[in-house]
Amino acid sequence: MNERSQIIEMKGIGEKTASLFSKVGITTVGDLIRYYPRTYEIFEDPVPIAEVSEGSVCTVTGAVFGRIQVSGNRNLQVTTLYLKDLTGTLKVIWFRMPFLRTTLGKGGALTLRGRVLRKRDGLVMEHPEIYYPASKYEEKKDSMQPVYTLTAGLTNNAVIKSVRQALEHASDRMDILPQSLAEKYHFMPYETAVKKMHFPENKAEFSEARKRFVFEEFLVFTLSLRKLKDREDRMVNSFAMADRPEIERFLEALPYSLTGAQQKVWKEIRSDMQGKYVMSRLVQGDVGSGKTVIAFLALLLAGLNGYQGALMAPTEVLARQHFENISGMLSEYGLPLRAELLTGSMTAKQKREAYERIQCGEVSIVIGTHALIQEKVIYRNLALVVTDEQHRFGVKQREALAGKGSMPHILVMSATPIPRTLAIILYGDLDISVIDEMPKNRLPIKNCVVDTGYRKKAYNFMKKQVEEGRQCYVICPMVEESEALEAENVLDYSEILSDVMGDDVKVGCLHGRMKQQEKDEIMDAFGKNEIQILVSTTVVEVGIDVPNATVIMIENAERFGLAQLHQLRGRVGRGKYQSYCIFMTGSKSDETKERLDILNHSNDGFFIAGEDLRLRGPGDLFGIRQSGIMDFKLGDVFQDSVILKQAAEAAGRILREDPELKRPEYTKLSEALQRYITDQNLEATL
Ligand code: ADP
Ligand code: MG
Repeated sequence: MNERSQIIEMKGIGEKTASLFSKVGITTVGDLIRYYPRTYEIFEDPVPIAEVSEGSVCTVTGAVFGRIQVSGNRNLQVTTLYLKDLTGTLKVIWFRMPFLRTTLGKGGALTLRGRVLRKRDGLVMEHPEIYYPASKYEEKKDSMQPVYTLTAGLTNNAVIKSVRQALEHASDRMDILPQSLAEKYHFMPYETAVKKMHFPENKAEFSEARKRFVFEEFLVFTLSLRKLKDREDRMVNSFAMADRPEIERFLEALPYSLTGAQQKVWKEIRSDMQGKYVMSRLVQGDVGSGKTVIAFLALLLAGLNGYQGALMAPTEVLARQHFENISGMLSEYGLPLRAELLTGSMTAKQKREAYERIQCGEVSIVIGTHALIQEKVIYRNLALVVTDEQHRFGVKQREALAGKGSMPHILVMSATPIPRTLAIILYGDLDISVIDEMPKNRLPIKNCVVDTGYRKKAYNFMKKQVEEGRQCYVICPMVEESEALEAENVLDYSEILSDVMGDDVKVGCLHGRMKQQEKDEIMDAFGKNEIQILVSTTVVEVGIDVPNATVIMIENAERFGLAQLHQLRGRVGRGKYQSYCIFMTGSKSDETKERLDILNHSNDGFFIAGEDLRLRGPGDLFGIRQSGIMDFKLGDVFQDSVILKQAAEAAGRILREDPELKRPEYTKLSEALQRYITDQNLEATL
């Protein structure tokens, strides 16, 4: 057996297990070896009950206080006990485990480990793991247990067992890293490194192992980018884009004038679109810097010249918002163009009709989610694709989009505040424009960082804002273990909040488990102020624009990355009213305070990203992964920026010395590169 063997050949893996594994993308022994844990469970010291923090997983040790109760009905029996230590008492509940009344009723110390949540009657630890007697916990303490991404029917333990077996067949023949690079950067040998990725003894060991694979991932990525760039440079612009008077008129009619930065960027885009080569440009600008109007101008230029333009949004909610926004502007400013919306929740008939209007050229601006724009749609003469940073375009996709036509211009919008040095590496195939100035009429958002004791005051404050006609967001604690729990949390929370707010205030809720149509309805209602307070998970994070919303309260703020918090905060402060951001935290640690303080004192995304990095330092691998930026399996662009730079340098050196990767030591790297390019659909003919 080797890394290429099918997992079905392994001991203990039959048809059934193999098919479960294939659901998470594992078919070979090598796939299992590279199926790295999503995170690790670390069994830390128990904390005094008085210091448990809301929203987080805690371990407590104590004795049962009073009687253990079983309540509820046959379907959902709830076992409740009170655990007491020298500092206080904590309510603990389990579902469907009535037998605990007997097993735990025998006295003596026990240790419990679980998430602490705020319920109507105070803090409750929900469904914790039980270590009884308490000494059982001691055995586990400080060890790291891998936690894998699972699918229904596949347990974490089953994955652990299979991975252990697979690791026996790990062989450095599968190592793609050239020996010279492994030596230069002192990486852990391949075989040791894969083992330590799954079963590290401690954090230091894990971080050594991880470094190697992050480097590998970045190396393959930067190599593929370089190759891509070499090709794209040669694409000639075949679209004639004359300046159009309607655009000047539109700019004059707008209720505001473009900021200097917006003007500069618009000029760059226009001259790209009128230039000799096809545009590949990234526009970077902090939340609220006004990127949408820039995208709209580019779409107008294409449309008014008789071409089509497409705008891809990451979610349906956003696509719809853009569509309404853009259709609104088209009619308000008397622009002779039609826009079309394409989303997954449209009926087959609606889609067909939309496809027809696109194919015959009746519509000039197509807005939708990316799958819909890519599949089945035939454009008449697509000249421009505007997208967000989550999508990368290779020549192949451009060809697919254009059908038989010419390669369209590509404009990528990004709110991720990456320093220029990193942007140049990450977007090596794109020219970069930066909107580095905020619209002038903005009132800076007022921030505060508070603990949960402030919640009542915060509710009162929100109520006042609603009475004045404004709206609010509450971002709810996330429960990452289970989507079901996450939904329940948001639902629970919004019910409680609805009680507090009274009948005059409509509280709505939004979470990832809802159907698209439900989400749209809720967002619509919020947009129209039929809902005044929206309780949501981070699904509202990207781009939602409701200028009448003036308060965002973020529960368990310590559990988010700073960049993500900054994005969330960007949902307010978009209109003419003073806006407020309340960071609520259940944690009492100084570190949390220091981190949140950065946000408290700055509204500048670039500054925040830099400070976040400084605070976490490259050693912090268990910190919160910054979401939103590119899909690396392991690497984090911010946190691993040093490795990213090293990998980019190495890629440059390799290509200078051996552009075709013909040397024997590059054979496996070259194969990996081809695989990556195919997987990512980047290019057919490198
Ligand atoms: P983002 O860059 O986050 O996508 P938007 O494009 O959604 O930001 O713009 C945020 C808000 O600012 C919108 O309501 C938009 O109409 C407004 N806006 C854009 N540019 C300007 C400007 N130059 N002056 C005033 N308001 C502007
Ligand atoms: Mg936006």
